[in-house]
Amino acid sequence: MSRYYCPFCSIRYQFHKTNSEGVLICGQCGDPLIKKPFINTRQIFGLVAALSFLSPLLIMLVLTVKDFNEEKPPLHLETSVSITIN
Ligand SMILES: [Zn+2]
Repeated sequence: MSRYYCPFCSIRYQFHKTNSEGVLICGQCGDPLIKKPFINTRQIFGLVAALSFLSPLLIMLVLTVKDFNEEKPPLHLETSVSITIN
């Protein structure tokens, strides 16, 4: 995957050339190529959307595991009954 792209031509049909000055240009329209950002805004929005769906599941899993690992207090089954005789 190339790190440069032409903003005017379709990504599918792009081919890159180097002109006489050593600058990368688009083979179709001849415009200089633009460097791709490392993470574009679309990817950031996708990541946020995916996290918003996955985070409740992850939090639930963490809390479930934490609940299993915790030592449960012993249950007091003894009941005290007081009978008053008049
Ligand atoms: Zn182009």
